[in-house]
Amino acid sequence: METIVKGMDGIEEAATIIQRGGLVAFPTETVYGLGGNALDPDASRKIYAAKGRPSDNPLIVHVSCIEEVEPLVSAFPKEARLLMETFWPGPLTIILPKAEIVPHETTGGLDTVALRCPENRLTLRFIKASGVPIAGPSANTSGKPSPTEAEHVLHDLSGKIDMILDDGPVGIGVESTIIDLSGDTPTLLRPGAVTLEELSETLGREVVVDPAIIAGGVSEGVHPKAPGMKYRHYAPNAKMALVTTKLLKDKDYVVTEEERRIADEKVAACIRTMVEEDIAKGLRVGVICCAETVARYQAKVHGSDVDIRVIGSRQKPLSMTHELFRILREFDMDGVDQIYAESYSDRGVGFALMNRMRKAAGMTELLAD
Ligand code: AMP
Ligand code: MG
Repeated sequence: METIVKGMDGIEEAATIIQRGGLVAFPTETVYGLGGNALDPDASRKIYAAKGRPSDNPLIVHVSCIEEVEPLVSAFPKEARLLMETFWPGPLTIILPKAEIVPHETTGGLDTVALRCPENRLTLRFIKASGVPIAGPSANTSGKPSPTEAEHVLHDLSGKIDMILDDGPVGIGVESTIIDLSGDTPTLLRPGAVTLEELSETLGREVVVDPAIIAGGVSEGVHPKAPGMKYRHYAPNAKMALVTTKLLKDKDYVVTEEERRIADEKVAACIRTMVEEDIAKGLRVGVICCAETVARYQAKVHGSDVDIRVIGSRQKPLSMTHELFRILREFDMDGVDQIYAESYSDRGVGFALMNRMRKAAGMTELLAD
């Protein structure tokens, strides 16, 4: 049975577990990770087994400072160092060619390695104390929404790991941004809280978006460079439908106040109709809306079988990423059959939010008009 320790008290024990080849779930600013010694092939195998994760889906290697990167890579381009200096510790994972000592078990058979220095006091101390880099995918059962609280880790992995370091709910709530710097063209493999705009501004050149992000990695002929992006991810048990309008999509959500008001009402009316039809069929329904639109649902949808959740304010996409996975998990716990959610802008952090919401919705979006 795993122990759960709050605060700094568990760090020494956690480090000992890692050195003995065991698994420790740890907090980060994005989601909880499931850690093992990244240089130990057996520890990596254990991580895949605990998560039920396909072994071709590589793990992210966590370090506590930039100096710890050097021995893990066979090339260390200036641009990688620049991004590390700018964004670390923080929600950015950088792919570089791997050094020999990083086993293929950790990199899913690839000759590259994903590196990240998370911004969490406890975890930085834990990595340092372990004395080895920590391989850490998200600490959820493969295919489920990533864990944003220690409680979620326990729900998915109880009995399969040795310890959970608990630092309360995470801040950001969606996984790190991944940029590939192992080739000539910097490529975004997964959107996160470090935005595409910030990356290209820092590098002073264009960062290409891996087509698999847009296609969701599920279309024929599109092969995602981050193997993890091809799996059905972040998925609740319920079916989920995302709803938007033609105009919002065409204008990437940059519309006048009047256009916005009309679009909000179209989306809400469409969702209300579908909710009522589902309730009549005896289904349990969840609605995800924002602070700006909640009144369009609350007063107008009735019944005990509908659960209306405010994901945050659309003025603050980070308030929304913070809530998404928790809401999806709670819908699952409540036995919700069908979720309807509003779509939001892809700008800035919105790109990460919408990427996770689209994945949960099987990459389809409905038009309300
Ligand atoms: P997770 O641990 O759930 O955050 O998933 C890690 C993500 O990083 C997955 O989508 C992996 O496919 C991706 N990843 C890890 N290492 C590499 C790599 N060397 N090249 C490309 N993607 C990687
Ligand atoms: Mg994951």
